[in-house]
Amino acid sequence: MGRAFVYVILGGGVAAGYAALEFTKKGVSNGELCIISEESVAPYERPALSKGFLLPEAPARLPAFHTCVGANEERLTPKWYKEHGIELILGTRVKSADIRRKTLLTAAGETISYKFLIIATGARALKLEEFGVSGSDAENVCYLRDLADATRLADVMQTSTGGNAVVIGGGYIGMEVAASLVINKINVSMVFPEPHCMGRLFTPKIASYYEEFYKSKGVNFVKGTVLSSFVFDPEGKVTGVDLKDGSSLPADLVVVGIGIRPNTGLFEGQLTLEKGGIKVNSLLQTSNSSVYAVGDVASFPVKIFGESRRLEHVDAARKSARHAVAAIMEPDTTPEFDYLPFFYSRVFSFSWQFYGDNLGEVIYFGDFSGTSFGAYWVHKGHLVGSFLEGGSKEEYEAIARVTRLKPAIDDLSELERQGLGFVVGLSQKLSMAPVTNVGGSMSTVTVVLKKPVYPWHATAGVVVAASIAAFAYWYGRRRRRW
Ligand SMILES: Cc1cc2nc3c(=O)[nH]c(=O)nc-3n(C[C@H](O)[C@H](O)[C@H](O)COP(=O)(O)OP(=O)(O)OC[C@H]3O[C@@H](n4cnc5c(N)ncnc54)[C@H](O)[C@@H]3O)c2cc1C
Repeated sequence: MGRAFVYVILGGGVAAGYAALEFTKKGVSNGELCIISEESVAPYERPALSKGFLLPEAPARLPAFHTCVGANEERLTPKWYKEHGIELILGTRVKSADIRRKTLLTAAGETISYKFLIIATGARALKLEEFGVSGSDAENVCYLRDLADATRLADVMQTSTGGNAVVIGGGYIGMEVAASLVINKINVSMVFPEPHCMGRLFTPKIASYYEEFYKSKGVNFVKGTVLSSFVFDPEGKVTGVDLKDGSSLPADLVVVGIGIRPNTGLFEGQLTLEKGGIKVNSLLQTSNSSVYAVGDVASFPVKIFGESRRLEHVDAARKSARHAVAAIMEPDTTPEFDYLPFFYSRVFSFSWQFYGDNLGEVIYFGDFSGTSFGAYWVHKGHLVGSFLEGGSKEEYEAIARVTRLKPAIDDLSELERQGLGFVVGLSQKLSMAPVTNVGGSMSTVTVVLKKPVYPWHATAGVVVAASIAAFAYWYGRRRRRW
């Protein structure tokens, strides 16, 4: 039993949805493309699961957040796929892949062959069992990676109002879920081994701002320790957790967000791996020329850093997916993928964005006792990263635009003095003039606009425009539900 397609997308998450839309824009024919996904629903905006999906009132539910609404584009419902002649093979796990024969074998025993394969298998949540703790299959212990997890978490939350939740992990998932639990009137303790939340991105000063707010909402931070075991009642339900530091916490609900592992298993030994993901070149092509990899599973060259990275963020999934499709459909005209890393989060009424890299010296700006503040990272004399909380559309646009250009900074105290005004001013100048050379240092910042147009300027403009579109969408929805 088998079917053959020209293009197969393996995985039905964020990247798959954006790739499908791009295929239709580039002119895929009826019956040429299929998406195979273990999930039983069409691709959706995964970030909604830890935000609007968990709200106590009028929570977001499908079909409202199918891709590609997160980038202010069409919402691809199952009907859309049908109308565009794209086969959705849902609820179907691929259990093996044969790169040499260009075939995939599903758990149901079907062989699906392809001419081009896009691997978009994303990642899975790390389980406590992988760290030697057993019992995380109890009914009130939740992970959060897919719709099934989110549905279960929402159900358990409903029965835990007024009770106690323990959140294991202080990263994205931990912070966003903790906020949702508070909104659902559940008492929250957050347990993580690092000295502060969001340890991979935040500085202690930035983390402290958010932690203080969480504390004002009653969140109890238990840092510098990890879970050692669960306490169960006779029915097998978790009633508490014991921590390595010897303390214990009561629990009606436990949420575990301790990181992810890319789903590379099907391709180990067949494709080159790197940094825990599938290695691709600057056209998202793997070590096999018929196979591309995108999203969380791909390790790709980040030109602006001069090295490969594997990013676990939705913007990278969307853009790498689109780029891979362009590279497949228009191989002669598709340029290298030149991506500026972009992360964001929204918790309570906060909304922050980060662009670039968090490397080097940190320069803070804004009012850390108010609602808008940020930081720049300066490495080897260049601004390489920018963080902004509570910015306006124009300010977010400015930090994205200027960070991409890595302007030279020779006076850190002047950067600190100008604060957000530095990127806003520079961005305005870029908008006003046909500029290409932003080699300006802080001391020459007013004369950074020097030479006539070169092609890279156009590229920067496109990237900035895309970021703005994404921001505009999320900002618009922020006051709504997800
Ligand atoms: C709850 C949550 C909140 C998030 N919030 C944010 C945020 O605020 N900002 C941000 O930047 N990022 C956020 N992210 C990260 C973002 O969602 C991911 O970076 C993005 O989903 C990656 O897209 P992807 O397509 O690579 O992988 P995924 O979206 O994970 O999709 C992978 C798909 O592949 C399928 N699959 C895997 N293996 C197989 C197989 N063998 N056979 C068939 N199907 C298979 C899976 O079932 C899944 O459908 C969040 C993630 C989660 C889980």
